Amino acid sequence: MEHFSAIRDKLDAYGLDAMLLTCEANRFYASGFRSTGTDGAALVTKDETYYWTDSRYIEAARQQVKGASVEMTEPGRGYAVLLSEAAARHGLRTVGFEDTYMTVAELKDYSRRVAGVEFKPAAALLTELRMVKGPEELAALVEAQRIAERALAEIYNEIRIGVTEREIAARLTYLMLHYGAENTSFDPIVASGANGSKPHAVPGGKPFAAGEFVTMDFGCICGGYCSDMTRTVAVGYVTEEMERVYRTVLDAQRAGIAAARAGVPGCDVHNAAAKVISDAGYGAYFGHGFGHGVGVEIHEAPRASTTYDKPLPAGAVISAEPGIYLPGRFGVRIEDVIVIREGGCENIHLASKELLILS
Ligand code: ZN
Ligand code: ZN
Repeated sequence: MEHFSAIRDKLDAYGLDAMLLTCEANRFYASGFRSTGTDGAALVTKDETYYWTDSRYIEAARQQVKGASVEMTEPGRGYAVLLSEAAARHGLRTVGFEDTYMTVAELKDYSRRVAGVEFKPAAALLTELRMVKGPEELAALVEAQRIAERALAEIYNEIRIGVTEREIAARLTYLMLHYGAENTSFDPIVASGANGSKPHAVPGGKPFAAGEFVTMDFGCICGGYCSDMTRTVAVGYVTEEMERVYRTVLDAQRAGIAAARAGVPGCDVHNAAAKVISDAGYGAYFGHGFGHGVGVEIHEAPRASTTYDKPLPAGAVISAEPGIYLPGRFGVRIEDVIVIREGGCENIHLASKELLILS
């Protein structure tokens, strides 16, 4: 799916004659063409769209990029030259660039070599568009989620005393690719026992022991869109405290989900969940945000965190992932992904969240 015309429709609102896209995620969002490399640029003007890349990607780009004239860069005829030519052809004066991505050196180079054009920071244009997902984007996100859930259902049969974090991480990766994912959306996190108190622990060679929690945070990519989920299960048995912490995290997640709807500031959703955790006496042990946007990238706008005071728009997709992390002891995180709607939200996850004790 391509979004060139959606970008074009926003040019006036951002005071631009054209938008230059070089960031891989934005180029994919705009063109629907997923290249494996960093080389490529798209230019959306008011009456024409260009996609430029080098000889390694040109054949695939010509086949897959629709709605743009595709041109190959050559030695001595790089992006700055092609941009200068397009600027002259269309009379471009103000060109937006991705100020959250382009390097200072690249901006200097473009400014020096593309005469008569003012480069204006405009990453927000893409952020605004990408934040609200259309039906095809949602379908891809759900497909990626279904694959992750299939992998989860199977991995439950493999978690037992003596199996290591790294083995489970490798198996999750394998299973998601096996069931049709294009890739993982990030390296799976598998953390057990005391490692579970580090929210982004790196899976190691530690074998699972009885009385431990195992937290698995993983996702995959379908149609260029990411899934993200976390489940925490117990091995052998749980103590009363482990059960209480698990219940608190689940209640917090439900409170955040209940507060999530279009128009509500992201921080209010976070605070609804954080209140449940602090009321239970664990306020000091929940340090990250309740949720982040999920889409072409695993972390994108909007956020449900203490500092995000903007309203969540209808059609935004965010994670719902509170956690409690007791240093040196254990941790619990539970993560679903929700679609923000008018008056509420829709949970795209189907996997159960009841406390599971595997043996
Ligand atoms: Zn996650
Ligand atoms: Zn997440």
